[in-house]
Amino acid sequence: MTVFPRRDSSPASGVMTERETAPVLPGRLTDARILVVDVDPGSVATLLHTLGGAGYRACDGDTDPGAALTLALEVDYALILLDIGRTGLAGLRFLRGYRDGRATEGAPVVVLSTLADRDIRLAALELGARDFIIRPCDRVELLHRVHDTLTTRLLLRDQLRRADRLDREVSARTAELESRRHFLQGIMDSAGEGILVIDRAGRLTECNRAGTAMLGLDSDKALGRRAGTFLPELESRFAGSWETMARRADGDSFPADITVTAAPDHGSIVIMRDATERKVAEQSFWRLANMDEVTRLPNRRVALDRLAACIRDGGEGHIVFLRLSGLDRHADLFGDHSAEHALFQVAERLGECTERVASVYAWDSQCFLLVGEIEPEPLFEGILTALQGPFDDDERALAMELTAGSARFPGDGLSATDLVRRARLAESCARAAETGHLPFTAAMETARVRRHAVEDQIRHALRDCGLDVYYQPKVSLADGGVVGMEALVRMHSPTLGPVSPMEFIPICEESGAIVPVGLFVLRRACRDTVHWRRNGRVPLTVAVNLSPRQLDTPGFADEALAILEEEGLPPQALELEVTETLLMEERQRVDAELMRLRDAGVSIAIDDFGTGHSSLARLTRLRADTLKIDRSFIKNLLRSHEDESIARSIIDLARILDLKVVAEGVETKAHAARLLDFRCHMGQGYLYAPPLPRPGFQDWLDAAMARV
Ligand code: C2E
Ligand code: MG
Ligand code: MG
Repeated sequence: MTVFPRRDSSPASGVMTERETAPVLPGRLTDARILVVDVDPGSVATLLHTLGGAGYRACDGDTDPGAALTLALEVDYALILLDIGRTGLAGLRFLRGYRDGRATEGAPVVVLSTLADRDIRLAALELGARDFIIRPCDRVELLHRVHDTLTTRLLLRDQLRRADRLDREVSARTAELESRRHFLQGIMDSAGEGILVIDRAGRLTECNRAGTAMLGLDSDKALGRRAGTFLPELESRFAGSWETMARRADGDSFPADITVTAAPDHGSIVIMRDATERKVAEQSFWRLANMDEVTRLPNRRVALDRLAACIRDGGEGHIVFLRLSGLDRHADLFGDHSAEHALFQVAERLGECTERVASVYAWDSQCFLLVGEIEPEPLFEGILTALQGPFDDDERALAMELTAGSARFPGDGLSATDLVRRARLAESCARAAETGHLPFTAAMETARVRRHAVEDQIRHALRDCGLDVYYQPKVSLADGGVVGMEALVRMHSPTLGPVSPMEFIPICEESGAIVPVGLFVLRRACRDTVHWRRNGRVPLTVAVNLSPRQLDTPGFADEALAILEEEGLPPQALELEVTETLLMEERQRVDAELMRLRDAGVSIAIDDFGTGHSSLARLTRLRADTLKIDRSFIKNLLRSHEDESIARSIIDLARILDLKVVAEGVETKAHAARLLDFRCHMGQGYLYAPPLPRPGFQDWLDAAMARV
């Protein structure tokens, strides 16, 4: 084998005759590695020389086809020039070996042959030869052929490489886009809202998981569907936010909040929220705000709104404020559930008997408001009848009282709240008067205003020493001598003038102010009595009125005894007047407090005796000392046989029980004479003196002592 490396190559023949006309090859092409295979060393040398002269710097030559084949398979040649030889056998073997031995596409093989070798040429073509050069060949033609073959090959290789690069770029970009699509789809799917992308033709092009779930679509069948099938407004509205009824694929519908935004290259994007829960919450908020939970009636807010609207529209009619008392008692007896059930039934019956004439509202847990063109009195009677029957499964009747107050509109009030306030006031007057129904009157309001003013005055009086104590003497009927006095509280208001204790004491009792008021009177009475007793007067006793509420206050007896001690009045000089009503009911604490005082030496008088229903047993148990005959019997003592008998009986009873007896309201000498006839011990009244302020009483005492 003779190998002709490029550097060794030298012109071996005269083939290259027109060197100067050889094509100028681009530098890249001249880097191409070329293998020359020819059994003739001279020919190899010539060819290498020709090629080297043309600028091909990497050329090898070999005269042994077998060795050349090994080389060709090892080295990545750009072109092989193969002399096929006369028999062609070695050349064809090379071609076959080169074809079969390569894993990749090899270099193009250009076969050099003589004209006569046609069959060999064809065989060579079949074995993969690319081209032929007929020998003897022209140098220029050879170089052109080499140049063209190399150019074609390089172009092809470039194209293949570019195509390959493009392929790789496209697949990388496709993979990147796919991953981005997955990422975006993941984001869309993780959204709680439905996200729908709609093309310009109104068809779904994207829909996230929440969207398909809300619309009841199979995710793979969703795309391409008309969005208007599910969200009808999308046919005509292309942007904005609104609430709609969305249709599911199965035909059901649900409330949805949707926001539609135009997406320039995609049509539009719809964000859809299922509003079912919001709607349910809104409804329950509405119910809470407007309906009564137990009776399921519209509540007072609705009542006031509708009443106001009715007044605004010039409506006329009545409102009835209805109170059901005793529900608490019912709940204590039968439980809350039964009470609520009863209340619900009351509401139902109210609805039945006011149907078509009045609207019924729940005002609070035990009051109702009826509004309509109604006559309150007959309606109230009808309601009373309707509430008669049994009220629950156990056939229990309602042990409750119904009271009502009514007001007329527009006459009794210009606003809904004024009307309700007045009907309510009428109801509380009806309750106080223990009657069923009362219509509102202006007098009720005057009385309420007065009461409010008195309440206010009591508070001021307690704070600013606005209370005073007057004294009214008690006189021995037998000799006209003074035996004691009753302390009577007085209140003078700068705005209201003198306010009678008959008016303010009951208010004090209700509010609890009677406790400090009572202690004030007691202290003042003790102090004044001590003063009069010290000044050499007769051993006067003082009577102080007590209300049950005072006795019901824990520690009252101790406090009273402490006052006595502080002021220096012996308990024996104090008499406490309790009303007869106290004798009517057993009250342990009251009894205990009274006994504590009694044991300390304080006397007990029963005031206004004869007006109530006292029990003789309690009278003796409380160990009262004195009975005070109510002045109503004394007033008509001389005119009414009946009153005379009562007064006389009380005096007899006192004697039998060994009690002292005082007649109240002795106004005339005739009264006094008759009472003396009946052997009454003492008298108190205008005949002797009215209740007097401290200085006046002092004067009266002085005058009385002077008379003795
Ligand atoms: P009471 O304890 O029965 O007092 C007698 C009432 O009869 C006094 O009325 C007195 O002014 C009045 N009176 C006395 N003599 C006559 C008379 O000859 N004719 C007439 N028509 N009335 C006479 P007053 O002072 O208005 O007291 C009324 C009631 O207020 C008292 O009735 C008593 O229940 C209560 N009260 C007065 N002061 C107090 C007090 O400090 N504490 C308590 N808890 N109640 C008091
Ligand atoms: Mg009294
Ligand atoms: Mg009295």
